Amino acid sequence: MKNIALTGGIGCGKTTVSNIFLKNFGIPTIDTDLLARQAVTKGSSGLTQVISQFGSDILNDKDELDRLKLKKIIFFDKDKRKTLEKIIHPIVNRLVKEKIRMITSHYCLIAVPILRKESTIMSLVDRVLFIDCKESIRIERTVLRDKLELPLVKKIIKSQPSRIELKEMATDIIQNNDSFSELNRDIGKLHEKFIRLFER
Ligand code: ATP
Repeated sequence: MKNIALTGGIGCGKTTVSNIFLKNFGIPTIDTDLLARQAVTKGSSGLTQVISQFGSDILNDKDELDRLKLKKIIFFDKDKRKTLEKIIHPIVNRLVKEKIRMITSHYCLIAVPILRKESTIMSLVDRVLFIDCKESIRIERTVLRDKLELPLVKKIIKSQPSRIELKEMATDIIQNNDSFSELNRDIGKLHEKFIRLFER
């Protein structure tokens, strides 16, 4: 079984793409965002490590991780973000491996919104699928979807890996600037390519 990282910035269409792969071809997606949440649930060793680095101030009154508080801390502090990633990423990798073992299709997607060359998840993937989309369209779709303020969306885009970085890492690219029917068509072609490649 082959593993393909599915990546791209905010609002580029990762969820939409993974839904199409599942619906049309039965190809599942492992969501690393979900697993990252699982890694720091109440009482987990992940959360204990996070508390030892960031203090118990990052807990809410139910002793769960206050994700927003932590997000605010790491958003502007690269070193703290790296410290957090050092704790969370190995746990996520272990959880991804557990999920992979249960999958029976030819290949699966692993959604990784923030993918960098040095990300530990890279050791688990055979290919990188980048969902590219013009910034103006991503902004428009994200504002419409999340009702977020424009400056905040722009800030988030700036904090994420750039299109250039992601293009460099990509083995496959889907352009998601047009309609859903074009997206469906392009995903169909890519699926055929993956099947051809992986059947060799
Ligand atoms: P995030 O990383 O922010 O969670 P994402 O990459 O998963 O975003 P989606 O949620 O799939 O992105 O897409 C963002 C929004 O754009 C959604 O509301 C989705 O319905 C819409 N969208 C995606 N692709 C298209 C398309 N080809 N045409 C029109 N709307 C689209």
